[in-house]
Amino acid sequence: VSIRTQKLREELAAKGLDAFLVHDLLNVRYLSGFTGSHAALLVTANDIYLMTDFRYEEQVKDECPEVTLELLHDGRLSAALDLIRRLAPERVGFEGHAVTYRDWQALEEALSPVELIPLNDPIGRLRFVKDDSEVSAIREAARITDLTYDHIAGMLEPGLRERDVALEIDCFMRSSGADKEGFDSIVAAGPRSAMPHAQPTDRVIGSGELIVMDFGARWHGYHADITRTVLLGKPDDRQAEVYGIVLEAQSRAIEAVRPGVLGGEVDAIAREFIAERGFGEYFGHGLGHGLGLDVHDGRILARNSDILLQTGMVVTVEPGIYIPGWGGIRIEDDVLVTESGCELLTHSPRMLNLPTEDR
Ligand code: ZN
Ligand code: ZN
Repeated sequence: VSIRTQKLREELAAKGLDAFLVHDLLNVRYLSGFTGSHAALLVTANDIYLMTDFRYEEQVKDECPEVTLELLHDGRLSAALDLIRRLAPERVGFEGHAVTYRDWQALEEALSPVELIPLNDPIGRLRFVKDDSEVSAIREAARITDLTYDHIAGMLEPGLRERDVALEIDCFMRSSGADKEGFDSIVAAGPRSAMPHAQPTDRVIGSGELIVMDFGARWHGYHADITRTVLLGKPDDRQAEVYGIVLEAQSRAIEAVRPGVLGGEVDAIAREFIAERGFGEYFGHGLGHGLGLDVHDGRILARNSDILLQTGMVVTVEPGIYIPGWGGIRIEDDVLVTESGCELLTHSPRMLNLPTEDR
């Protein structure tokens, strides 16, 4: 935790800031270890103050030995105000993405003449590169996610509803040790698979239909994220063709992931391949995102992303082709950027058809 804070302090010093307010709860957790749902931090050159309410007094002692606790008696801003007045800094940074306009007005009014400077999520950018403990947590989340896919692939059969499958995914992840599901699990069959972020419904899954399943476990706060597209029975020619294109696009992109490459370049490799095969207009989202305390930890492998890949980043690679009225195919895996390239963290088999004879 202290190395993380040190990097932030270097950035604050370079910008001439005396202190930085942290309202984003994931950033609070990243710097302090605090896992509760109500807190803010004030980071100064020598201290970290954690502001929270009495429900968390014990938890702070347990989770955050390095912080100075400031107990709130009403809202979190008022405690920040008292604290800032007491420390009397001249320039205080805050998170432009996490402070509401109303709170900003209140801060400005109460703290004048302290200068308040919005920064563009400097902690979020530090979080792109994972340290060893974070990588271990993502590995565990990925292990549980793979285990879950194996379980689901073995129980899928015609007649189940999308929501039955989604519920089983969530139950299985939790009973296998996940904190919980990292995001709302997606199970979308038939033409509904053309919606990249479909919610599971009562729709009954039939043989020969594309089934997109996108889910991931969260373990100790860290996320995995996998998508498999399968069908029960035998794929027709078009299903097999489109699946092959998505799979090849993914392989080429994974092949290209290494330190020193721009995120946008990796995105372009998959995107151009899909376009060459004639499906360019059906791949409308970014190729992949960072993974960490957030399931979307940075738009790293996105179109035109100028984020330089570095050893220790963890990203998803998830090309897809979605054809309205026909269906969609997406394949998603998680990779760790290593010195020599990258390492796959998810290992579920990438295979379109699940045999049905023995069901
Ligand atoms: Zn996903
Ligand atoms: Zn994803």
